[in-house]
Amino acid sequence: MRRKHARKVLEQFSLVDALVAGLFDGVFSLEEVSRAGTLGLGCGDHMDGELVLHEGVWRQFHGDGSVSVLGAADTVPFAEVVDFDPDRTELIEAVPGFEALAAEIAALVPSPNLFHAVRFDAHFASISLREAVRQEKPYLPLAQAVHTQREIVLSDVSGTLLGFVAPQVFQGVTVAGPHFHFVDESGQQGGHVLGLTGATGELAVETYYGVTVHLPGSPDYLAAELDPEGADAAIRHAESDHQH
Ligand SMILES: [Zn+2]
Repeated sequence: MRRKHARKVLEQFSLVDALVAGLFDGVFSLEEVSRAGTLGLGCGDHMDGELVLHEGVWRQFHGDGSVSVLGAADTVPFAEVVDFDPDRTELIEAVPGFEALAAEIAALVPSPNLFHAVRFDAHFASISLREAVRQEKPYLPLAQAVHTQREIVLSDVSGTLLGFVAPQVFQGVTVAGPHFHFVDESGQQGGHVLGLTGATGELAVETYYGVTVHLPGSPDYLAAELDPEGADAAIRHAESDHQH
């Protein structure tokens, strides 16, 4: 059983540290990215909005509040994708907040030192989302670019929260800990999840024993000065709701 699991890896395109450095151009086609599976997340070309890959369909929730369904020729600067086939599924009720959801996931998986893909089909009393706002060249570093992000709260909404929980030592390669995006059941609203309240639904998790990282070959990436030490603070800042 362990041998079988050892073959399951998450597929990732670019590095979070490259986003931190301001590499926001789409450099991977969705034709390539989508070969990795049917569940995932990412960010849009020019850092415009948040991407959700749900049941094989890519949606881009733009920073102006609009939504697009993306096609094979569209490009992305960053994405993480799996061929989701959950190990465990459980009904969970009245989850009070984001930390409580993270604790429910932790209770279902074997260790925080592995990768976990998550899909939570649920009703939420509220869910707080953000969408990055499209950036223009010359790009600012991520920590400055997110100051213009759009933040919304959806109330009394059903939909799918999905994403990943990564080991702490992978901070900078990806986002360590939980990183979730959301699409509502209409497919019209979504984004990067900052917080939630009162969630009840079906929580499905799958553990992955590794990650394959596809690095860009773009001139910007080749010349980028990646800064793993400075990136940690920038990632924490970018992933927060900026209220603290
Ligand atoms: Zn995100």
